[in-house]
Amino acid sequence: KLYNTLTKQKEEFVPLHEGKVSMYVCGPTVYNFIHIGNARPMIVFDTVRRYMEYKGYEVNYVSNFTDVDDKIIKKAMEEGRTAGEVSQQYIEECKKDMHDMNVKPATTHPLATQEIQGMLDMISTLIEKGYAYAAADGTVYYRTRKFKDYGKLSHKNIDDLEAGHRSIKVTGDLKEDPLDFVLWKPKKDGEPYWESPWCQGRPGWHIECSVMSKKYLGDEIDIHAGGEDLIFPHHENEIAQSEAANGVPFAKYWLHNAFLNIDNKKMSKSLGNFFTVREIGEKYDLQVLRFFMLSAHYRSPLNFSADLMEAAKSGLERIVTAAENLQRLSGSTVGELSEAEKDLLNQSHAYQEKFEAAMDDDFNTADAVSAVFEYVKFCNTNVSGENSKAYIDALYAKLKKLCDVLGIIVEKEAEI
Ligand code: AMP
Ligand code: ZN
Repeated sequence: KLYNTLTKQKEEFVPLHEGKVSMYVCGPTVYNFIHIGNARPMIVFDTVRRYMEYKGYEVNYVSNFTDVDDKIIKKAMEEGRTAGEVSQQYIEECKKDMHDMNVKPATTHPLATQEIQGMLDMISTLIEKGYAYAAADGTVYYRTRKFKDYGKLSHKNIDDLEAGHRSIKVTGDLKEDPLDFVLWKPKKDGEPYWESPWCQGRPGWHIECSVMSKKYLGDEIDIHAGGEDLIFPHHENEIAQSEAANGVPFAKYWLHNAFLNIDNKKMSKSLGNFFTVREIGEKYDLQVLRFFMLSAHYRSPLNFSADLMEAAKSGLERIVTAAENLQRLSGSTVGELSEAEKDLLNQSHAYQEKFEAAMDDDFNTADAVSAVFEYVKFCNTNVSGENSKAYIDALYAKLKKLCDVLGIIVEKEAEI
């Protein structure tokens, strides 16, 4: 079961195509090193993917890099570089951080700048269907009121939105309605741009995800995910674009992680109260950061603190030490399972079942981690040099399997 933001309920996961999961996770805008808030969706949805794979699904996991954006252009201008140079650099840095947090590379990591043709096509379709229009200056807007389901994801009423917008309406606006949002906008001097039927310009942010999701996963997908700040307007607008253009429901399940806070305040670049993943990596193995993130349920706010990181570090050590102990014993024992060992192995299945029950309940990693701790205790209590190799190896294999789902590495690298 997973909690679907669309229906505000936990629902049983039924894939569109048997045995397969198509999943799109909104990725970062690449103008700086990622901060540990950005790392939260990467880690939790990588864990969702790993659990789906553990359950036997073939997962097609797509996560984009937003590599054209005001913030990237601003940074490039400040540094006398091109926007492409800035985004390329931070894509590489982000991939390094992902690797160090043991986040698997996506099946595809599309870049917005490589998908412009698809965006032009979708915008043209929306114009043809009456869902979009070009204003006099070449800006293309989405005609929000035309999409009858607008607000269904964020559970907002369109008239309330309109009231809020009217008070901040800017004079000289070329929109038909204050709720309309940008699909394509004209370039400004010195900015990167592409040719289009409407003006030389660049895409709005929302259209890129609708287009990349369609291209790599199809018109209808199983899961769309991201941080909860993306519910409105980003994901609401993605639904409006995709469903109007494609004529079918977009994503079946919408998953959103809660925020990572610091001193109980939202961690964000604009508030300046953030740590980059790289900074944390100077002090801790990034496995510790991963383990810390998984110690909470993904829909609960999580407060970052030195104490919790220390607790995560010692918890992780307990698991890794148990794994090393089993590996060491495996090297020094021989033989097949005794009856007593068979019995113990049967008992040990209860921990795996507990782990699965936690993960089946909307990916409750906090409880899944508790099940791993209980299993570690079981292993520590029930192994010695007297046991057979078959027994030790079976216990180790189970520990490794569960830790693999969490993305926690327990296997010692082969010594060179
Ligand atoms: P951005 O680069 O700002 O578009 O963010 C990339 C992803 O990180 C999005 O899914 C955001 O929702 C998520 N995100 C940003 N800040 C935080 C935070 N403090 N806690 C959790 N997720 C965050
Ligand atoms: Zn997106």
